[in-house]
Amino acid sequence: MTDPPEMDAARVALLDEIVREAAETAAWTGRAHLAPRVLQAMARVPRHRFVARQQRRFAYDNRPLPIGYGQTISQPYIVAMMTDLLDLAPMDRVLEIGTGSGYQSAVLAELVFAVFSVEQHPKLAAGARERLAELGYAGVEVRVGDGNRGWPEAAPFDAILVTAAAPDFPPALEEQLASGGRLVIPVGPSGGAQTLWRCVRNPDTTISRERVLPVAFVPLLPGV
Ligand code: SAH
Repeated sequence: MTDPPEMDAARVALLDEIVREAAETAAWTGRAHLAPRVLQAMARVPRHRFVARQQRRFAYDNRPLPIGYGQTISQPYIVAMMTDLLDLAPMDRVLEIGTGSGYQSAVLAELVFAVFSVEQHPKLAAGARERLAELGYAGVEVRVGDGNRGWPEAAPFDAILVTAAAPDFPPALEEQLASGGRLVIPVGPSGGAQTLWRCVRNPDTTISRERVLPVAFVPLLPGV
């Protein structure tokens, strides 16, 4: 399948908007400029391939879109910012909770060799797996399960990204962080005031947590 040329123009315009929004939110995030590698990854991943045909013309709008089963593909600016906050190096092992469409997984796979992603909904997981394979993202492993439990067999991780709002910091995820590992996670009630946090596991195993930004995510479901 070839991609229509108007998608390219839309993708460039979206990148400009992400750069602008990062500058505007710098007072919160402390990151006025996203890493060039992160912007390149955002430029490379075809977001229109991760949404249904009816949503394609909105694929390069800077907003979340429905992906079925009551779930959404996150806003591109948020995907870029969360990815930037992970400070990824190519050899990092990354865990994502909430595969959804697989879009965020693809962005991560542009930056590191090994991405592990957990999705609670079997149909979303199957769709993401298929899409990622079609697009050649061989470095992503998708598993159906409860993300609150992480992926103990593949731990420890240099970075963990949660793409749904947790009521609190899931202990298993903090435990599965390597020393120096980063956890980026939205915490707060469903439909209420949520905050994006960046946490780091210190060499003495304590966790430092920093607030980043007010956000709105679908809920991380309990015990699925
Ligand atoms: N990263 C996704 C966004 C997904 S929205 C993307 O780029 O498209 C959040 C996802 O988290 C949804 O797909 C939802 O089904 C999933 N989810 C919610 N609770 C979960 C849980 N406890 N374990 C694993 N996945 C969960």
